[in-house]
Amino acid sequence: MKKIGVYPGTFDPVTYGHIDIIKRSLKIFDKVILAVAPNPQKAPLFNIVERVSMVQEATRGLKNLQIEQFDGLLVDFAKRQGGIAVIRGLRAVSDFEYELQIALMNRKLDAEVETVFMMPSQEYIYLTSSLVKAVASYGGEIKDFVPDFVLKKLKEKLWKGHP
Ligand code: ADP
Repeated sequence: MKKIGVYPGTFDPVTYGHIDIIKRSLKIFDKVILAVAPNPQKAPLFNIVERVSMVQEATRGLKNLQIEQFDGLLVDFAKRQGGIAVIRGLRAVSDFEYELQIALMNRKLDAEVETVFMMPSQEYIYLTSSLVKAVASYGGEIKDFVPDFVLKKLKEKLWKGHP
């Protein structure tokens, strides 16, 4: 049986932290389905089409990775896709409480879908999409954290109408 992992998130925008987790997951799972959630409650900067397209571009060439959009309950989506586990990235301790809550709720909803936590490389341990957006909005240097084309899209989006 093929082991399929589902990696959900907002990816607003995709960063090297996400890519690090994807690459690590691909060493463990036969296939990884990256699931982009609309998450309107997070008021994303990029719409879902933009986020999916950035993830596609950032992961071009990675084998056994499928990119999907999903809405609704994550465990239902994972089940439909034949996923055996949800993949989440764990950064600093601050992620732990929230992630544990979600993982235990998902287990309650469907005991067959496990959650697997993966740690990124140390240089990405404090990297979040929110931080990247905040720094970029003030013109700070973020080239070590996102691919060049994401940097360009961030500038276009954040500085629209500004010189
Ligand atoms: P969400 O809205 O689900 O938190 P994100 O796009 O912020 O979506 O993150 C998706 C997943 O990727 C989460 O599990 C998050 O912890 C993980 N992640 C984000 N950035 C990093 C990073 N720098 N290192 C490791 N994992 C990360």
